[in-house]
Formats: sequence, C-alpha cells, structure tokens
Amino acid sequence: MEKSLSDRVSQFIARLEGKLDAAGILVGSAISEGYAADATARGALPLAVLRPRNTEDVSIILAAASEIGQPIVVQGGRTGLSGASRPLAGEVSLSLERLSGVESIDAAAQTLIAGAGTPLQLVQQAAEDADLYFGVDIGARGTATVGGNIGTNAGGIRVLRYGMYRAQVMGVEAVLADGTILSSLKGLLKDNSGYNLSPLFIGTEGTIGVVTRACLKLHPKPKIERNAFVALPSLAAAQQLLARLRVELSGLLSAFEAIFPNIYEKTVGYMGIRPPVETGAGMYAMIEIQGQSPEQDNERFEAALAQALEDGLATDVVLSNSMRESAALWAIRDGINDFLFSNGVMVGFDISVPLGRMQEFLDTVKPAIQEIDPDNQTYVFGHLGDGNLHYCMFTNAYEKVAEVIFSGIARVGGGVSAEHGIGTDKRRYLKYARSAAEIATMQRMKIAFDPNYILNRGRVFEAPASIVDQPC
Ligand SMILES: Cc1cc2nc3c(=O)[nH]c(=O)nc-3n(C[C@H](O)[C@H](O)[C@H](O)COP(=O)(O)OP(=O)(O)OC[C@H]3O[C@@H](n4cnc5c(N)ncnc54)[C@H](O)[C@@H]3O)c2cc1C
Repeated sequence: MEKSLSDRVSQFIARLEGKLDAAGILVGSAISEGYAADATARGALPLAVLRPRNTEDVSIILAAASEIGQPIVVQGGRTGLSGASRPLAGEVSLSLERLSGVESIDAAAQTLIAGAGTPLQLVQQAAEDADLYFGVDIGARGTATVGGNIGTNAGGIRVLRYGMYRAQVMGVEAVLADGTILSSLKGLLKDNSGYNLSPLFIGTEGTIGVVTRACLKLHPKPKIERNAFVALPSLAAAQQLLARLRVELSGLLSAFEAIFPNIYEKTVGYMGIRPPVETGAGMYAMIEIQGQSPEQDNERFEAALAQALEDGLATDVVLSNSMRESAALWAIRDGINDFLFSNGVMVGFDISVPLGRMQEFLDTVKPAIQEIDPDNQTYVFGHLGDGNLHYCMFTNAYEKVAEVIFSGIARVGGGVSAEHGIGTDKRRYLKYARSAAEIATMQRMKIAFDPNYILNRGRVFEAPASIVDQPC
C-alpha cells in the first residue's frame, strides 16, 4: 500500500514519541538550516531531525526506521566534503550531536572511550590532559566528530606518523539498521576471537551502521614538537627530501605537507602576513618532527635541513623556535582552506597518487584541463608523505574536468578519494578506482547489513531501482 511522505514520517515520529525525550525530536521550524548542508553544499532540509541521548535511543530509532522504510541520513559535525552527510529529499536526519563527551581514559592501556558526537578537538584535549597524545589532526577539528572521523576514516596531517583514523580505533559500539547493538569497547590490542566487526564501520560512510561510542588508541605525548617551512626547487626535490628525511629522521618525522607555489602566495596574501620563506620557489613544504629527546631531536632536525640546503634540495628554511612560532607556521597550512572557502564555489579533488607517478599525473592533466577550461584556477597542496593531493579548482566545466582527473588517476593507479570518501558527489567516479567485482562486493555487504537501504541511501553507490522506486 502506498503511503504519502507526510504519512510515513508522521507514523515514524509517532512511534518515537514517548521513547525519545522532547529535545530528541525536531520538526518544522525547529529544524535549523545547518542540518541541510555539509561543508561543500546545501542539500534538502531533513523532514525531521532525531537527536538520540544514547545508544539505546539510536537502536529504537533505527528499528522503527527499518520497519517503516524511512531513509535516514547520519550526521556528525557535517564537515564532510563529499555529500555523505548532506540530506537528500525525503530523508530524516539522525544527528549524533548529543552523544558528546569523553567517558574514560585508561592511562595504562593508553586508550580512551568517547561518544560518537565528540568533536575531535575534545578528544585531543582529553588526551593532552592525561599527558598522552591523539594521533589524528584535521583542519575541521573543532566541529568534526568521532563518528564522522570513523565514517570517513579521516586522515589529516600526521598520517605519515600515526596512520589514518582506522589505526586509532581499538573498537566501536555501533547500531545496525534493524536496531541491533554491537559493542566492542574492551580496548584489547590482541583479540582474534572470531570476526572483528569494528573495522566494518570505518570508512563505510555510515552505510553499514551507526557508531555510537568508540575506544581510541592514544600515544605517548611528544616532549618536543618542532616544524619548519621550506622552499624547494621542485616537486621532485620535495619527494627526494621526503625520502631522505624518512631515513635520517626515522621515528621523528610527523608531517610533510606540500604546498604548491600559487596557493602559498595566495594564502599568505589572504592572511595579510609576511611570507615566512621567499616567494618564487618551485615548491613549498611544511615539515614537522615529534620526539622524546628534545636536544638530540633538535640537532637531528637542524642537521638534516642544513644538509638539504647544502645539497640544493631546499633553497630557504624557516625553523620554529617556540610554540607560538610553530602555531604561526601551521596557521599558514590551515589558512589554505580559509582562502579557498572564501573564494567562491570550489571543487576539491582529494586524490591519492603513487609518489613515483605524481609529476606524470600533474603533467598529463594540466594541459587537458587548460584546453577544456582556459579560465580555470587550480590550487594544489596535500599530504605528500601519504601521496595525497588536494587538487582544488574553480572551474565552470566540472564534469569534463572531473573525467580528465579521474581517468588520469586510473592511469597512474591512484585513488579517487584519499580521505574524504565517496558520498554522493564522487559516486560515479568510484569505478575509476575499484573494480566491478569490488563494487559488487560492497553492495553485497550493504544488503547483508541494511537490506532496505535505510542508512545513507545512495552514498558510495546507487541503491537498486527496486529500493529507490519505493514511495517516500
Ligand atoms: C576545513 C576542513 C578541513 C578538513 N580537513 C580534512 C583532513 O585533513 N582530512 C580528512 O580526512 N578530512 C578533512 N576534512 C573533511 C571532514 O572534516 C572529515 O571528513 C570528518 O571526518 C567528518 O566528520 P564529521 O563529524 O563532520 O562528519 P559528517 O560530515 O557529519 O559525516 C561524514 C560521514 O560520516 C558519517 N557519520 C557521521 N557520524 C557517524 C556515526 N556516528 N556513525 C556512522 N557514520 C557516521 C556520515 O553519515 C557521513 O557519511 C576537512 C573538512 C573541512 C571543512
């Protein structure tokens, strides 16, 4: 029997009333605009916003949604950059914002348990307060949440040292589409008791289940953290320097960010600051070390950079000498996003490129893009240590340009999304990085966990026509 949209949502909400508290259900004018957008664009205003207090609330919501067939968009901080948390028409938002807080820290095991709605910065601070360290940092740290970080398998600036978010997750508590609760928060480093289910929720963009709590790995707090801003002759020189520092600063190197010349110059101009190193170089890099032996570590860092200058791998170096100076150098890296987001409608290609084929990739796509859109503005920066470039563009020919970039990625054996996921925005390009067999297997997993495509329908890949055609 066909139900109208309002019928179904009203029936859904009616089932939840009396089970969730008053602040747990927002409808009509109580739904603010923020719930309609991710960091890239505005989507549809959700028909209702559900704000569970705990895992049991999430279970009640999902069980009802599955029974009624109500599509749900799972939302954390909505800082995502691929449309996965941006609502589609007919969806109800499940916002984890009230599951915020660090519940406990185990200093001996160096782990922490936090709610899915906890902002990354709060996790970092809690670790710091316990004289420990959390290994992931991203520009959206103040708003992006544990659940969103897990859903996207967030990367950021220190993957080179600590790995991606996946490497920080000891276990999760999650709710499946039918309301089943799976809890794996023991924090055991070794536990091969059958299948490990927690990794299924990492990087699957909220399509397999909803994370409600997570046990995260912490690290010893560095006694020294120091960075340097470096001008280099070329991308090749940056790659050589990276390879060398991986050996010479083994155990110390924590970030190696490449910043291409035009975005360096625009960002320092936008910030209104004096460039820390000469403009006009072929490439720039932000390099950071973290260590436990300040005197020795400083000496190794300074010696390695002095050698790079002597060998012509670097042409100018500014080393931070205080936390304030270090923060000022990092502010330039963060300022890149501020400049880009202030400049109009930007399209960001977050691509993974094998280091050895990076120059070849850039040399191939640039002229092809120029031919399609001679007025394009292109800015490139990224986590060079991870082979991850943010290829950011202002262009009026998005679709043609995207084909050039993603087919170029396929040719060099790269990935169409290094950190930001596929969401809805990059769905059609998944085939450039994954085989038909891989995509079909992902779809089989989806059906096993969420046969009605309740959770984040249409993210990563299209839902089958039989599901999409159901009235909503
Ligand atoms: C200025 C800026 C800088 C950024 N820098 C980086 C960077 O360096 N590296 C990087 O990786 N990303 C970066 N991002 C992208 C973004 O911040 C990350 O993807 C982040 O992990 C998203 O977290 P969120 O809480 O905002 O998630 P949302 O945007 O709300 O959601 C993202 C995805 O996770 C899912 N999700 C959210 N909560 C849950 C949950 N509890 N359970 C299951 N699924 C869930 C959503 O459904 C969606 O699929 C940046 C974004 C901005 C705006």
